[in-house]
Amino acid sequence: MHEMSYVLRLVNLAEEAAREQNAKKVTRILVSVGETSGVLPEYLHKYYKKAVQGTLLEGSVLETEANPVAAVCKDCGTSYHPEKEHRYACPACGSNRAELSGGRGVRLMNVEIE
Ligand SMILES: [Zn+2]
Repeated sequence: MHEMSYVLRLVNLAEEAAREQNAKKVTRILVSVGETSGVLPEYLHKYYKKAVQGTLLEGSVLETEANPVAAVCKDCGTSYHPEKEHRYACPACGSNRAELSGGRGVRLMNVEIE
């Protein structure tokens, strides 16, 4: 259950950010979940309530947003979303040479405090 370790790390980061701003509590955090991270947002939600107990984040809302993988074809410059059924090839020219970006890891994007 590596989702729990992600959640704990996010909670720690958010708490640190809140402390730096002398916040009494955190009301909401926004987390970006990479498409290739292997992390399912539903599990983050599942562990969140437990992870925030006794922290500045207790009672706060966890919001997640998907961070999809993007590809830019090195041959024709088309931006596309790589699809497994097309072997991740460029839909415009069929090239397999692409620069990938996004979709990685789990990141804390925003912390709302009170
Ligand atoms: Zn192309």
